[in-house]
Amino acid sequence: EVITRFAPSPTGFLHIGGARTALFNWLYAKNRGGKMLLRIEDTDRSRYSEDAVAAIQDGLEWLGLSWDGDAISQYERVERHREIAQQLLDAGKAYKCFATPQELEEMREKARAEGRPPRYDGRWRDRDPSEAPEGAVPAIRIKAPRQGATVVADKVQGEVSFPNGDLDDFIILRSDGNPTYMLAVVVDDHDMGITDIIRGDDHLTNAARQTVIYEAMGWPVPNMAHIPLIHGPDGAKLSKRHGALGAEAYRAMGYLPEALCNYLVRLGWSHGDDEIISMKQMIEWFDIAHINKGAARFDIKKLDAINAHYVRNSADGDLVDALVEFFPYMEDGEYYRRRLTPEIKSKLKAAMPGLKERARTLVDLADGARFLFAERPLQNEDKAEKILADGGREVLQKLLPILESVSDWQVETLEAVIRDFAEAGDLKLGKVAQPLRAALTGRSTSPGVFDVVAVLGREEALGRISDQLN
Ligand code: GLU
Repeated sequence: EVITRFAPSPTGFLHIGGARTALFNWLYAKNRGGKMLLRIEDTDRSRYSEDAVAAIQDGLEWLGLSWDGDAISQYERVERHREIAQQLLDAGKAYKCFATPQELEEMREKARAEGRPPRYDGRWRDRDPSEAPEGAVPAIRIKAPRQGATVVADKVQGEVSFPNGDLDDFIILRSDGNPTYMLAVVVDDHDMGITDIIRGDDHLTNAARQTVIYEAMGWPVPNMAHIPLIHGPDGAKLSKRHGALGAEAYRAMGYLPEALCNYLVRLGWSHGDDEIISMKQMIEWFDIAHINKGAARFDIKKLDAINAHYVRNSADGDLVDALVEFFPYMEDGEYYRRRLTPEIKSKLKAAMPGLKERARTLVDLADGARFLFAERPLQNEDKAEKILADGGREVLQKLLPILESVSDWQVETLEAVIRDFAEAGDLKLGKVAQPLRAALTGRSTSPGVFDVVAVLGREEALGRISDQLN
């Protein structure tokens, strides 16, 4: 059985790169009928935040990336990490290092001066611990191989060979008794039965060090797939500067979770030239073989286009639900929530075909639907007021009794009546449509004006026009 994991450090929100890593792990597990586990890498207590854990879990849930079982806290497994460090020590595969901070700093200085990466020189590797100064508390270091190379057989990067001379005897247990990331990850992945590790390629060197630990323990090394990081449009690693935000920010910008997943899966994986890929298809088609080796570039315009596609192709009722669920994430969502009556809700659904054609996001959709939520008498925006003041009211004065006589309040009938009215008065359609739109929405732009008249309903539409004439 395939068991993958997503292992975020809870130092902030679920950023977009993390979301993609989670998606790949989830898809791979689903594709293989396996499981994805969630491990919170919370051993660094100085950077731990409960809010970050909640934000990560909320983000995953919103995206629909459910993990199996309870989230696992790495911190709670610290005894187990210590136990393994002790086992390695007992087996002679690790050793106690009593080097002082000052000695370590000297080693770093020397490396800097010689222009090479800092490495621990192994000074306690073969030394008897009894030589340690009285009361000194050691760190535990792995006895890494010195000859040959450690090979990571990566499913994306291919076989990557690391000369063992470059991998020093790194610390697995700090002198304060806390495990390092390197040890904790290996012990947890092993104990959790992880078969496949899929993560960013910034962890590739760690993979070599982790392999050293697996080999020292005689544990099988899981399959590894290190995926290229996401870059910004300028080619540099994606950062906040590029607008790399958390999942909740994309949610607040009105993106649909399926659209964001669709966008993210295409950032680094492909299925022919397919752009629009449903969650179901993703699960069916996802494989490691088609993960790209090159870095993907984040392109918000592409995300907008994909989201617009999902909005246009969603069922009207689903969009109403999505919009209502979106209210808490909107700046003025409270206003929408307060105004939402069952009547407005059904009008919203009726207006949806016209609204969704011109919306890229739920924010656009809410904005387009604002006229439905408006309270009489409407507050006119400046442009709308100008249209009404510049002869618009006179036109509406004549149109009102004609609309009042319409009994069949359907879009086709209304359109015919309004067109006839314009023609009879020798007016361009715009001369009628503009003031009508202004009166009905308080704005100079809106979905198609005939739709607006029809969707508002007879009483509300006539009422809004009358309001402007008094
Ligand atoms: N906690 C690490 C991170 O957030 C991931 C570790 C791993 O996937 O092995 O980058």
